[in-house]
Amino acid sequence: MKRYLSAIKPTGRLTLGNYIGAIKQFVSLMNDGEMILFVADLHSLTLPIDPVELRNNSRNIVAYYLAAGLDPNKIRVFLQSEVHEHSELAIILQNYLYMGELARMTQFKDKTQKMNNEAIGLGIFTYPVLMAADIVLYDTDYVPVGEDQVQHVEITRDLVHRFNKRYGEILKMPRALIRQNGARIMSLSDPTKKMSKSDPKGDIFLDDDLKIINKKIMSAVTDLDTHVHYDEANKPGISNLMTIYSALTNKSITDIEEQFSGKMYGEFKKEVARVVTEEIAKLQARYQEIIQTGLVDKVLKEGKEYASEIAAKTLKRVQEAIGLYRYE
Ligand code: ATP
Ligand code: MG
Repeated sequence: MKRYLSAIKPTGRLTLGNYIGAIKQFVSLMNDGEMILFVADLHSLTLPIDPVELRNNSRNIVAYYLAAGLDPNKIRVFLQSEVHEHSELAIILQNYLYMGELARMTQFKDKTQKMNNEAIGLGIFTYPVLMAADIVLYDTDYVPVGEDQVQHVEITRDLVHRFNKRYGEILKMPRALIRQNGARIMSLSDPTKKMSKSDPKGDIFLDDDLKIINKKIMSAVTDLDTHVHYDEANKPGISNLMTIYSALTNKSITDIEEQFSGKMYGEFKKEVARVVTEEIAKLQARYQEIIQTGLVDKVLKEGKEYASEIAAKTLKRVQEAIGLYRYE
């Protein structure tokens, strides 16, 4: 059976980008193999975060996973910090990735470009090391992610190759999995930038008031043309709205172009807003039901136990391979 592994960082309110690029993908793959998900709380410490917010965000991610239709009887969910093997393995694996390659990571460059070196914590630099540990701990086959995370899966693959060449077939080679349409949702106020929860400009949040979502879509930045046509380079705003519409309706881009041929942007935006608010209204209703039960805690407790068992075995395999002595 194939194993899927993925996570979201509890750095802020979940966005429509997280929902389309990540969560919806998990839902569609849930019956296709084993799905192990976690809340990447250790990864969220790489930039300053308020402790109360961190705790609330973590619970919210689990509630939204379930609200989106991930079946708690089929999937596993846990908190990264509760399975200590992630940290232990990262300490080992940091010796198999190099400063030069870490410095070339787009996420590192993006998130630190306006920062002074004296203020950049080590954690944001070594982020791919911990992420590699996250992935290989579970002998993961596929990592369903948005496009921005593919680079981190690629560096994990380099690490696995390097490690196995030296010690034999110890780590499983993972593969990134991105959806065809919707792997990169852009900001509504600047469609040349990725929608991100920690840089909330032009974001649609899953817990936004529906009226606000409507307003955000109706005032999304587009171009001066009037033709609903997909062209990422010249019409990034309209193309982004088309991507969102396509991801939520399963209509192809060509079908959407046909549907809105000869129609004005206003009419198209209204229809996008209708589809987005309808989907988010359903999510919010289910979220409200779930958050009032003890389901989040129950799922996390079971998930932790399940994950710990697998993680412990992998860590032991690695320790033995590299010559760490274990007295048992
Ligand atoms: P942060 O700003 O803290 O990095 P984020 O919104 O980028 O937050 P992450 O926790 O880094 O979210 O990523 C969680 C998952 O959501 C990843 O699989 C990532 O690729 C995906 N994702 C994030 N933003 C988008 C987006 N705009 N479009 C599609 N997928 C996205
Ligand atoms: Mg991110």
